[in-house]
Amino acid sequence: MITFDMVIVGSGGGPDETNLSAYLLKPRSARWEDGVLALEAGSGQGALNQLLQRNPYLFDPPSDLDDHEPRVFSASEIYNLVRCYLLTHAHLDHINSLVVSAGSFGAPRKRVYATKQTLQDLEIVFSDRIWPNLASWNEEDDSHKLLYSVLRPDNKYKSIFPDVSVRTLPLNHGRNESGHYESAAFFIRHEPSSREFLFFGDVEPDILAEKPQTINVWRAAAPKIPDTLSSIFIECSWPSGREDETLYGHLTPEHLVDELTTLAGEVVKFRCSQPQPRARPARKRQKKNPPSMEDLGSALHGVRVFIMHCKDDVNGVHDRPVRDIIVEQVRDLVVARGLGADILGAVQGMHIGTSFTIHQDVIMV
Ligand SMILES: [Zn+2]
Ligand SMILES: [Zn+2]
Repeated sequence: MITFDMVIVGSGGGPDETNLSAYLLKPRSARWEDGVLALEAGSGQGALNQLLQRNPYLFDPPSDLDDHEPRVFSASEIYNLVRCYLLTHAHLDHINSLVVSAGSFGAPRKRVYATKQTLQDLEIVFSDRIWPNLASWNEEDDSHKLLYSVLRPDNKYKSIFPDVSVRTLPLNHGRNESGHYESAAFFIRHEPSSREFLFFGDVEPDILAEKPQTINVWRAAAPKIPDTLSSIFIECSWPSGREDETLYGHLTPEHLVDELTTLAGEVVKFRCSQPQPRARPARKRQKKNPPSMEDLGSALHGVRVFIMHCKDDVNGVHDRPVRDIIVEQVRDLVVARGLGADILGAVQGMHIGTSFTIHQDVIMV
């Protein structure tokens, strides 16, 4: 069952400013004209303009299933339809287009959903110094084009859009001179079907963090896999072999697959904790040891992992897109560990039906 439509406006990790994290979303049963949810806001109208020139039917691909006349949208039409933004953190590669385009937004006001800290970071930008102050915390303040709307990491789902709610969990994203820097992960749920997908902001390996937090995301995800949660969007900024000291709060294929192995372990633990059907011989006792490699076999079967935020190969070391290399490296490690997940690249210009069918005819590489 397809629950969402997603168009990838940008999925890179910089420095190419024409391909920065930006995902546009709507429930499958709604029309784009009914409103668009913007998940991250790195690239924006400029990048979308280019994509629409190459594929005018990006948002409404022709289908064999019906004979509807495909609708063609312009980039500015689509961004006028954005009702709210959902941001994992306020690094520039995730907020750039929201800031630059905010002055030209029309009514009604658009909500910006993020954690309190991320919104406070955004306030530094909308300060009448770096950029005019176009955002406020006050619901009545119609003269400001954006409305800061806090997401609390309280394990609850908050409705942010018709038929869509979100649960927010904090992530570690490295440290700087002022201390730990946090980003966020979102469980994005389609209310009518209760199906959801998991979207990560930039994240460092839990094994390098003083206070691991990604484990909380895996524990929350495990009971839902694969029936109600089968798609995970997560970063892998660097290719294999990069030293831990130079990760700057990001993942490599080895660290990502360690994280996925942790998830597989949580899935197995959850399944072992469930009552066994009577037909099967009852287990004497639940194992105390962590699940072994054999136990993990195919624990993530039915899960698709979309790799995003790969950093551009600025030195021209590789003869093909670094994203393809990273996806292959992750896939090889996942196969070697027998985790059973499908590994795919999140590619700029993709239209994805989440949970999850990819429209092959509209993928452009
Ligand atoms: Zn970041
Ligand atoms: Zn980033």
